Amino acid sequence: MDCLFCKIIAGEIPSTKVFEDESVYAFRDIEPQAPEHIIIVPKNHIKSANEITAENSAVIAKIYEAAAKIAKEIGFAENGYRIVNNCGVDGGQTVGHIHFHLLAGRNLQWPPG
Ligand code: AMP
Ligand code: ZN
Repeated sequence: MDCLFCKIIAGEIPSTKVFEDESVYAFRDIEPQAPEHIIIVPKNHIKSANEITAENSAVIAKIYEAAAKIAKEIGFAENGYRIVNNCGVDGGQTVGHIHFHLLAGRNLQWPPG
């Protein structure tokens, strides 16, 4: 399958790994929008939030477990962070493998654009 994040997970495209377990992979975003900008993905290919079902939704809990571990390990858990999932064209999704942006290291504004 021609999927950028599947290739990153497989090591065919280089990435800066931050965390990995049996179901989740996390790496630094190539175009960071905050001092800390990490992408967390399920290792299984799921296209977007629209494809979450009762059969595959357990991995979303794993994503949030990974985020909490990463936040503590890097040291921004105390100050806080934001987890963002963009879905589809209007949501601003540019890579067709579901992913969660973990953003931290500055005071993030609200509402998003
Ligand atoms: P989205 O716009 O929500 O689909 O997010 C895709 C994210 O993937 C963007 O923040 C990109 O900067 C990031 N990205 C694209 N290619 C790479 C790559 N090769 N390594 C790391 N991050 C990437
Ligand atoms: Zn994929």
